[in-house]
Amino acid sequence: MNEALAKHTKTNLLDLTPAAAHAQLARFFERSDEPAYRANQVLRRLWQAPVATFGDISELPKRLRESLADEFALPRLEIAARQKSTDGTEKFLFRLRDNEAIETVAIPEGDRITLCISSQAGCALQCAFCATGAMGFTRNLTAGEIAGQVREMRLLDPPIPVTNIVFMGMGEPLMNWNAVDPTLTILNDPNGLGIGARHITVSTVGILPGIVALGERPEQFRLAISIHAPNDSLRQELMPINTKYPLAEVIDAAKVFDRRVTFEYVMLGGVNDAEEHAIQLAKLARDCRAFVNLIPLHPGGARGFTPTSPKRIRAFARELRAHGVEVAVRKSRGVDIAAACGQLRVERLGRRPPRRPKHDGDIQVA
Ligand code: SF4
Repeated sequence: MNEALAKHTKTNLLDLTPAAAHAQLARFFERSDEPAYRANQVLRRLWQAPVATFGDISELPKRLRESLADEFALPRLEIAARQKSTDGTEKFLFRLRDNEAIETVAIPEGDRITLCISSQAGCALQCAFCATGAMGFTRNLTAGEIAGQVREMRLLDPPIPVTNIVFMGMGEPLMNWNAVDPTLTILNDPNGLGIGARHITVSTVGILPGIVALGERPEQFRLAISIHAPNDSLRQELMPINTKYPLAEVIDAAKVFDRRVTFEYVMLGGVNDAEEHAIQLAKLARDCRAFVNLIPLHPGGARGFTPTSPKRIRAFARELRAHGVEVAVRKSRGVDIAAACGQLRVERLGRRPPRRPKHDGDIQVA
């Protein structure tokens, strides 16, 4: 077999759940007449105490490290840019093997560090206020590329000890369920990254089959729904996906989701921040006992929109509370760096017109 073909057929252990990776490793070591515990030694080095290459697994004899590297792949995500805000927020631009670029943001707050991860390169959904949507969709990320963003934080010197995960980076995670499903296992499994399910939030614009699939998982993963407009006509203008999954159906799905749901609501000056919007939003939130997060628009994040003033955001929050809804106003983090969705990538690579996906079949709905 020539070298290129051999490389091509290597199994990427990072795309597999820990159980599946362990099974592959156990077979490999059995064939090599090595003791079974070797599989656990390598498994630990995938996610829990990760190594950059198989050659760094110092507890294995050199010949075994070499034969592992011949059989399996352990791809890294290359850091193409890294920016740190004065508030501690750090933004990473990762370059993938096919030269696509994705963003990851680490947000420290108290004793937590939340990592905002990407699930697609670009996004097909074209929400009017979103820099990623303006780029168009290129492809789905693999499980190894999604969970790999957390792995890379552990490989930094010094490492960033991530405690919480939100799927709020580039892409719509529930349009990539085939990869997000095993990713959730890798993130949560004690033999993977070991992050508690309640500390992992999947954020969606309301992809109904994906919400059902997430609800069917036994773990207590959190669901956040990007509402952003409290009625169909405004939501349709801001979020074209509303035509396929209208608000009433999204709210029905949230009602039957057996865990508490959060509504995300980005505050767009003069667009969705009037008192009548607060009243409509309060009704939706009460219908499914949702907690509402009000998100100040990042100043550079959306062409054609202006942020709602802090005073108006506070008033909007008061109006929601007066209608019996629990609400928090999110701090705008990383305002001195490009920390809005898709922004760093736009700065580095330039804007490009929305384009067709490489493969239509790349868009998967569970
Ligand atoms: S807000 Fe999310 S779903 Fe909408 S275009 Fe941006 S990345 Fe896609």
